[in-house]
Amino acid sequence: MSNQHLAPIANDRIRPVINVSGTMTGLGASIIVPQAREAMVEIAPHFIDMHSLQAEASKVIARLTGAEAGCATASAAAGISLSVAACITGQNPARVEALPDTGDQPNEVAVQAGHLCHYGASIEQAIRLTGGKPVVVGQSTQALDHQLDGALGPRTAAALYVVSHHVVDYGQIPLRAFAEICHARGVPVIVDAASEYDLTGFLDQGADIVIYSGHKFLGGPTSGLICGKRDLVKAAYMQNLGIGRGMKIGKESIYGTIAALEAWEQRDHDGIRQRERRALDLWYETLSGRQGVIPRISPDPTGNPLDRLRVDIDAAATGASAAAVVAALASGSPKIVARDHEIEQGWFQLDPCNLHEGDEDIVARRLMEVLDAARNGALVEPDLDLKRNGSVNAYMNWAG
Ligand SMILES: *Cc1c(COP(=O)(O)O)cnc(C)c1O
Repeated sequence: MSNQHLAPIANDRIRPVINVSGTMTGLGASIIVPQAREAMVEIAPHFIDMHSLQAEASKVIARLTGAEAGCATASAAAGISLSVAACITGQNPARVEALPDTGDQPNEVAVQAGHLCHYGASIEQAIRLTGGKPVVVGQSTQALDHQLDGALGPRTAAALYVVSHHVVDYGQIPLRAFAEICHARGVPVIVDAASEYDLTGFLDQGADIVIYSGHKFLGGPTSGLICGKRDLVKAAYMQNLGIGRGMKIGKESIYGTIAALEAWEQRDHDGIRQRERRALDLWYETLSGRQGVIPRISPDPTGNPLDRLRVDIDAAATGASAAAVVAALASGSPKIVARDHEIEQGWFQLDPCNLHEGDEDIVARRLMEVLDAARNGALVEPDLDLKRNGSVNAYMNWAG
């Protein structure tokens, strides 16, 4: 196995966290693959023409995605704003410089209600940042073809489609139908696929521009990538003359992203999957048979080739709630962060895709210790209201 799985070095500044929650911005996203790390160090002292570096990125992104062109961005969130802006301004530099004032240009962006998610920030705000105006299609749990069609008109600049575990996973218009309806009205379709493995399928289903995160499954530096129709990609890149400046990506991240993409092509995906499976099996065996604990292997909700272990906790039989178990894991040493988006329903998940060598054993051991403590009545029930508002409180209480 590559040194990708060496444990991080603990020092006074970096206190290691075992990440079994997924690729979380709040934990530093993902393990940056060695090839990307080396590329970033390599380019750091050099001057290069940034347009040619982005043209190089375009070639590699096009090769992997099958798109006409591509461009590296600071993040997927930046990619969303740049893509929306591209659909508003086209390749007109005066319009680019005028944003977020869209003048009399069409600036409406149709999006299904069930797709208006929060990925650490609101997707609606990523649209508004450009001067774009979200036009909501349907209700959270149901959007129909005629509602999308009715939302499109002379003021429409684009339609945005989100593929994610963050969005409502039923009652939505499938991408292929969504794209057909939009294209019949000449409206370009932007797909936010930030956290998806599939680098070709969304373009195949009719997307005009697709956005991925560079620092999720790809294991790149903090970055994003956009790919799609050449005209739109170029218009998105041109936003660096305007609102994109505050979302600048540096040479090291562009070069690191290129390296991560090339590493992705060479990656032993089956080997990684098997390794993840071994971790899941270990945790499954550790937990099965424990009273009040139901572990089960659970496939990724958007079809990424990745399973997680879902752990349901019966608080009465276990002696503590799922939230208390997760809190105890996080307050130990090393800190272990589980996937707890739906914790109030009494379950959490263990995600195996960001493990360093040996992490799975530590997690298994800590699970046993924490569940033993629960049985002895030694776990503290966390304040769920505090936890619910935790992402904001963490900023409010920041000790900087
Ligand atoms: C993570 C995520 C984003 C944001 O990606 P960044 O690269 O961290 O900006 C946007 N949309 C979805 C669906 C995501 O999962």
